[in-house]
Amino acid sequence: TPKRVPVMAGNWKLNPNTLSDATNLLKLIASNFLHHRSASDPEVVIFPPYPFLMPALELLEGTGIKVGAQNCALQESPGAFTGEVSASMIRSMGCDYVMLGHSERRTLFGETDAKINAKAHLCLKQPGLGIILCIGETLEEYQSNLLESVVEMQLKKGLAGLKAEDISSSSLIIAYEPCWAINTGIAATPQQANTAHMAVRRTLTKLFGADVAQSIRIQYGGSVKPDNIEDLMAMPEIDGALVGGASLTADGFTRIVDGA
Ligand code: PEP
Repeated sequence: TPKRVPVMAGNWKLNPNTLSDATNLLKLIASNFLHHRSASDPEVVIFPPYPFLMPALELLEGTGIKVGAQNCALQESPGAFTGEVSASMIRSMGCDYVMLGHSERRTLFGETDAKINAKAHLCLKQPGLGIILCIGETLEEYQSNLLESVVEMQLKKGLAGLKAEDISSSSLIIAYEPCWAINTGIAATPQQANTAHMAVRRTLTKLFGADVAQSIRIQYGGSVKPDNIEDLMAMPEIDGALVGGASLTADGFTRIVDGA
């Protein structure tokens, strides 16, 4: 089976407060990365808020760091959908990914599996645009032994209608993020995460066959920090990380990427 290239992503959420703060952070990240990249390094993607996408694309040019959007519209552009940003717009700027189904979008903004699925189809219609599909169980579900059935359902519904031939290793990344580990400071143990990733890959195998399932990267997310990344990345089924809070400083994010 082909080796999966690790993929490390920073989810900025609703941070930082101002364009000048974003610009400063991007410049610091760019200077860290310009100094020590090599061919065997992981793929790196940063997900800033929409208004900071263009500055990110400009300031990270030449670093090898890719840029993605944290969400996209449920509709195609052009159209009368005030306040929305389409997959086409995002791709046309030069972004390589859209994140879909983050637990904050699911719980705070009414993002259903059906909406996520419709957005996934819109993104994958844009040549060169990949998705990071976020899934994961709540604490209650985890304690009730429902982890595997929850992630299986989220994958089946979120990826409904997609066929193996629609999927390449760069077009679909799964981020397994247990809700109880996001923004709590309590990461899953490497063993817990690896077991969950095995369940994710079992479902991907049912959906797309073993070859495609083996090629899809599965990231762990939830309180990833510079001091736990190496143990997580040592697990065979963990192909990268989706990092929230710890991606908001240049040195923290750089150390996490180095931990891959
Ligand atoms: C996230 O936003 O996807 C996340 C995992 O957040 P944090 O790393 O802050 O827990």
